[in-house]
Amino acid sequence: MEVVTAVKGFKDILPEETGRWQYVEARAREVFAAFGCREIRVPILERTDLFARGIGEATDIVEKEMYTFRDRGGECLTLRPEATASIIRAYLEHSLHVADPVAKLYTIGPMFRRERPQRGRYRQFHQIDVEILGHEAPCIDGEVILMLLHFLRSVGLKAPHLEVNSLGCNICRPGYRASIQGFLAGREADLCGDCRRRLDTNPLRVFDCKVPSCREIVDQAPGVTDSLCGECRDHFAAVLVSLDAFDIAYVINPRMVRGLDYYTRTAFEVTTEFLGAQNAVAGGGRYDGLVRELGGPDIPGIGFAVGFERLLALTAEDLDDVPPFSPELFIAALGDPARQFAYALGNRLRLQGRRVEMDCRPRGLKGQMKRADKLGCRRVLIVGDREMETRQAELRDMTTGEQVRVSLDDPSSWEYLLV
Ligand code: ATP
Ligand code: MG
Repeated sequence: MEVVTAVKGFKDILPEETGRWQYVEARAREVFAAFGCREIRVPILERTDLFARGIGEATDIVEKEMYTFRDRGGECLTLRPEATASIIRAYLEHSLHVADPVAKLYTIGPMFRRERPQRGRYRQFHQIDVEILGHEAPCIDGEVILMLLHFLRSVGLKAPHLEVNSLGCNICRPGYRASIQGFLAGREADLCGDCRRRLDTNPLRVFDCKVPSCREIVDQAPGVTDSLCGECRDHFAAVLVSLDAFDIAYVINPRMVRGLDYYTRTAFEVTTEFLGAQNAVAGGGRYDGLVRELGGPDIPGIGFAVGFERLLALTAEDLDDVPPFSPELFIAALGDPARQFAYALGNRLRLQGRRVEMDCRPRGLKGQMKRADKLGCRRVLIVGDREMETRQAELRDMTTGEQVRVSLDDPSSWEYLLV
């Protein structure tokens, strides 16, 4: 019979890879906790409306990439393409903002976008996502970027390249939007279909278009910087001051707008030269109008998302600290009494937290030693009828071949050898 395979663009994460995933997650939790962030876990399925309102109707994600379907009750649902909207929904739904508008939250989990699968781009991928709500001050933007870079470095990412921009606010953005509309008006013929269609609804989307001919046009478009209002200009300047204070190197990219409509003021992206075309490891920014857009009060926010798969692809060889999985001890047993003893001792040691394996099938010594070797066990305890009588057995170090006589009745006297 044919084996059923996974859906295109959906990947299994196999046991040999999960150690590295756990390692990266553990570093994220450590770093985020140091900065006062707490974990929130939100569902992967939401009402479609949440994303349409949050991300923006005329964006690639909402127009083309969402997994949207009607369930058996006829409700229109979507597998989340990002976490920000869900986190804000939960923050409002549970009135977290009532007791304290400041909430520093993070979540780690799968996101779904129906894009063309290729290296570094999947249909189910994972993000490490941070959202800080209730803080408007530019020093928070600096702190969030500091935390992101610190986390990326702590898992071994080399040479992260940081780009920053300010996208203005609802006071100055309309002016910029109009100037881009004017700029694009004469160049309509050279734009791709999507961009032409969005000229009226969402002209800033051209900046996020990946079609080369659109990119060429965008490179000549006016940057946002000159359109910023006084307050946004001051805010951005203060963000840069806080980055300078932490010695964070950055490049200002006045044409970076990012793919979601909700960003205001600070936007940033971390790329590396090692990823090829899919070079963005993380992106984020401020979204001061989003909480209100989703039905809440006027509460500012800022956040980022790290692409887990892309981060792992960059740090593959560097993660020596991945927790070991190989058993510390293999108990090889010959004969029924020894096998029963091995079964009892092995499980008792496991209850104490030791990684122990034994082979419960009646097999010869050679087969058992082979299995111990295959599992990468450092030490093997060999027990047979004679050992059961004398209550002593050899503990063999598989790397050095060294053997030590140990007492079967007092494992605590030789447990220190298991490392
Ligand atoms: P890109 O420009 O590569 O499409 P994006 O701007 O759509 O990225 P965001 O929505 O900002 O990405 O998500 C943050 C991060 O999530 C990205 O920087 C990237 O590392 C990762 N990411 C986004 N889409 C995918 C995907 N389809 N597969 C794997 N990782 C992804
Ligand atoms: Mg994208």
